[in-house]
Amino acid sequence: MIKENLQAIRATIPKNVTLVAVSKTKPIEMIQELYDTGQRIFGENKVQELVEKNEQLPNDINWHLIGHLQSNKVKYIASFVSMIHSVDSMKLLNEINKQALKNDRVIDCLLQFHIAEEDSKFGLTLESARELLSSKEFAEMRNVSIRGVMGMATFTEDEEQVREEFRTLENYFHVIQSHYFKFNPNFEHISMGMSGDYKLAIEEGSTMVRVGSSIFGTR
Ligand SMILES: *Cc1c(COP(=O)(O)O)cnc(C)c1O
Repeated sequence: MIKENLQAIRATIPKNVTLVAVSKTKPIEMIQELYDTGQRIFGENKVQELVEKNEQLPNDINWHLIGHLQSNKVKYIASFVSMIHSVDSMKLLNEINKQALKNDRVIDCLLQFHIAEEDSKFGLTLESARELLSSKEFAEMRNVSIRGVMGMATFTEDEEQVREEFRTLENYFHVIQSHYFKFNPNFEHISMGMSGDYKLAIEEGSTMVRVGSSIFGTR
């Protein structure tokens, strides 16, 4: 069943869009089943769950941390995490840089923006991101690579609102790219779109969708 779901979703996604299969709360057997069909990128939102799953599953899985991350927990995932989507402060980015250095690696990160109406969701404003990217502190970081931006739209039936929020994120991407990453091809990702809105997100320029329940079933 989940294999068929994954196939069906893959069929609707253009080749240049990366599919992150969001496996949070789902058992390792299900992840292994999709791994066996070739899926390698999985997303989790909790550090402890991610650590446990990483220990039990093949080590060529690319684990993406998509949920809010507390600075004091970075150390548990720094040795293996493939991408962190949820960078929303200088403090967190500093800690990722420090732990990556300890592990002698460079960790790929996305800057998470607040684009939704709800104020419960985490994320930077364009202004705070620009402050971060222009700082001397950031200029000296050698062990993080900013690969793009990430955001979550409001949970609403209003398609036009969701589109508008995705357009805002796409605009932030271009503003940041032209100011700070003009000659850096690694700054390339717009992570937006979940089960309910990934098709809209792709129409609005997403390069990376994070799909959970449409593959694994409801949580
Ligand atoms: C859970 C989650 C997803 C996937 O949500 P679905 O609606 O199940 O596809 C995507 N992004 C983030 C940040 C999440 O926490």
